[in-house]
Amino acid sequence: MNGISNPQQGPEAQSPDKPPRCPVCGSDQVVPIVYGLPSWELGQAAERGEIVLGGCIITDHAPKWHCLDCGHTWR
Ligand SMILES: [Zn+2]
Repeated sequence: MNGISNPQQGPEAQSPDKPPRCPVCGSDQVVPIVYGLPSWELGQAAERGEIVLGGCIITDHAPKWHCLDCGHTWR
């Protein structure tokens, strides 16, 4: 048993909800659309333009992403 160290360090923790690029204009200024009753924190994040509030009603076709550059929404 040699003490061969093999640190398993990933490059970085990957966020499961990393915003994709906009399929229309290719912008990376994409924010998630958050549904449901927003908390105070979510309201603040929305005011800073970090997220978009999608409202309380969630449909099957509710978009998940919002492009800040062209306004396109998609899921
Ligand atoms: Zn766009």
